[in-house]
Amino acid sequence: MSLFDNIPEGTDIIEVRKKVNKMLSEARKKAKPPKCILCGKEQSSFCNSHSVPQMCLRPIADRGKVLHASLAMGFDIGVVDLDGGVNKSGTFNYICRECDAKFFQDYENPDNIIQPPTDKILAEIAVKNMLLQLNKRANEQELIQVVQREFGTYENPDELSKIKNLDQKEYKEEVLFHQDIAKNNKAGGYQILFWKVLPYKVPIATQSAIVLPYDMEGNILNEIYNFDESVRMQYMHIAVFPLEDESVVLAFYHKRDKLYRQLRHQINSSSQEKVLQYINYLIFEHTENVYFSKKIEEEIKNNKMIEKLSQEANGLPRFGHLSADNMFGIGYKAVKPEDIPNFLDESWAIKEEESTDGEE
Ligand SMILES: [Zn+2]
Repeated sequence: MSLFDNIPEGTDIIEVRKKVNKMLSEARKKAKPPKCILCGKEQSSFCNSHSVPQMCLRPIADRGKVLHASLAMGFDIGVVDLDGGVNKSGTFNYICRECDAKFFQDYENPDNIIQPPTDKILAEIAVKNMLLQLNKRANEQELIQVVQREFGTYENPDELSKIKNLDQKEYKEEVLFHQDIAKNNKAGGYQILFWKVLPYKVPIATQSAIVLPYDMEGNILNEIYNFDESVRMQYMHIAVFPLEDESVVLAFYHKRDKLYRQLRHQINSSSQEKVLQYINYLIFEHTENVYFSKKIEEEIKNNKMIEKLSQEANGLPRFGHLSADNMFGIGYKAVKPEDIPNFLDESWAIKEEESTDGEE
């Protein structure tokens, strides 16, 4: 759920955005932890870490700029200036500079990432994904109070705060779990769902941890509305890394997350085209941590199905606050993978002459 779903109708959206941006930077400052979670050293300032490596943003950038998913969601802060560092979307402030420079260096290397991934590389990606979630929740925790004060929109802010606290505990555990695998070179823990080096440059870059509510056939995986403390959410990780002439598409999970075993069989028995279409759909349905080339800006802004999908949460319409007796959005037809353009398909690839041309 987005924090801003609850802003009442009729509010001046531009004013809200200005306020929200200001609140965001305040919340970011407050949310910084006293110690680096990876090395435990006390920190006075934290590194502004990029979630998706720069090596994957530069190839799709237009004059040093890429678009962030927040653009598709209607925020002002959707343009990322890679050189100026204007935008903070998709960055996190949770670890120290030293860890940021050292911990991820195996996977943040174009020569390594085109090789079949080792457990260490998968662990580094997973740690990054969970750090981003952790940081986002910490920011939201601070934001809840500010938003409540400004708009008074939550019926039960304490309850919401409690749920987010629970999430944070879980994310922390995930960070430490995967860090341990990377640090101690533990092998055999991960299951790759899909890994492919495509011989062309796709126009999107992302990496994200997802709690999947349904598999490819619509069977229930995670009970995402079960807030019982004993229910641990299980994560799958997806990554799309465009490089200069090729792109890496990756999906995996850790074997302790047994819910995904069936999905593995479904993916194994699907064509590559279908799997790419499915991963493309998961990106738009489940993650905000995605960057786009300007090449597809118009398509993203104007495509009605993408708009519809971006308003969905887990296959349910996000607007309208479903009541308990209409929990499943009866009558609502969820967007399917084949309804939106598959940007991982070669037909959307960035050709060299396009990416050096600058503006269209
Ligand atoms: Zn550190």
